[in-house]
Amino acid sequence: MSSDIAQHLAEIAAEMASRSDRGQVAGYIPELAAADPGQFGISVLLADGSQHSVGDSAVPFSIQSISKVFGLAIALGRLGDQLWTRVRREPSGLAFNSILQLESEGGIPRNPFINAGAIVTTDAALGRRPPREYLAELLTFIRTAAGDEDIHIAKSVARSETLTGHRNFALAHFLASQGNLTNPPDHVLGAYFHQCAIAMTVEQLARSGRFLAGLQHLIAPERVRRINALMLTCGHYDGSGEFAFRVGLPGKSGVGGGILAIAPGRASIAVWSPGLNAQGNSQLGTEALEMLARRTGWSIFG
Ligand code: GLU
Repeated sequence: MSSDIAQHLAEIAAEMASRSDRGQVAGYIPELAAADPGQFGISVLLADGSQHSVGDSAVPFSIQSISKVFGLAIALGRLGDQLWTRVRREPSGLAFNSILQLESEGGIPRNPFINAGAIVTTDAALGRRPPREYLAELLTFIRTAAGDEDIHIAKSVARSETLTGHRNFALAHFLASQGNLTNPPDHVLGAYFHQCAIAMTVEQLARSGRFLAGLQHLIAPERVRRINALMLTCGHYDGSGEFAFRVGLPGKSGVGGGILAIAPGRASIAVWSPGLNAQGNSQLGTEALEMLARRTGWSIFG
């Protein structure tokens, strides 16, 4: 299996290198707008503990919304099922930063992976603590998951988003007006922007997903199942159905161009290429995962 994977990855990387349409780099966060769409890296951590990587696999990138998976694990650890009184578990069918549904649905976001839901989840994970304490817990969680201490927050990215994140401020204030935030909006957003600004390589990210693949015990198996279910149904915003159709694995994308995908019991996979498709998901990352899933037969749908 190990040598097959190395072969598949080499072929996928060669195929991706030949692509001229690489999508559009996220422009709305100035620090991310400068990313080079020519970059591509992929890493696969297998159940036997071996790891296979190709391309720009040792280059740190902004994990952005992939951090919502780890934030959700922490919020569930603190609140348990009570979290679901504040955020639902349905795909939104709308863009990641849409404000539309919030008003008609009484300030209860559709799921923890759209921005509104992640802001509520971050508020729940914060509890009564200062943002610094929550961020320290989150970093410890991710470092433990990855088995790597060298994972940090890119402060310049957090600052850049704080200065330009008007939609997220709108969402947070709307949530507060509906009584669905327990902390002041700027505290919650401070924590949220910093968690999105965590930088990791695909090698680190693939290792950090071991607990979701059932290859490392960090949280209860029942929680792992539920997080994977949400990644499958809501992990790619309004492209979640398409990702499930094409790849067939639970996955979470971020506007930095990363995707974490989980083949339960078999592998944790991280891919990164900064160019995004129309739904804000890595264009080449999605294609590479589709090729990998087809070659390995890892789709959870058989
Ligand atoms: N920090 C980004 C935002 O809130 C995250 C979005 C994403 O990665 O999809 O706009």
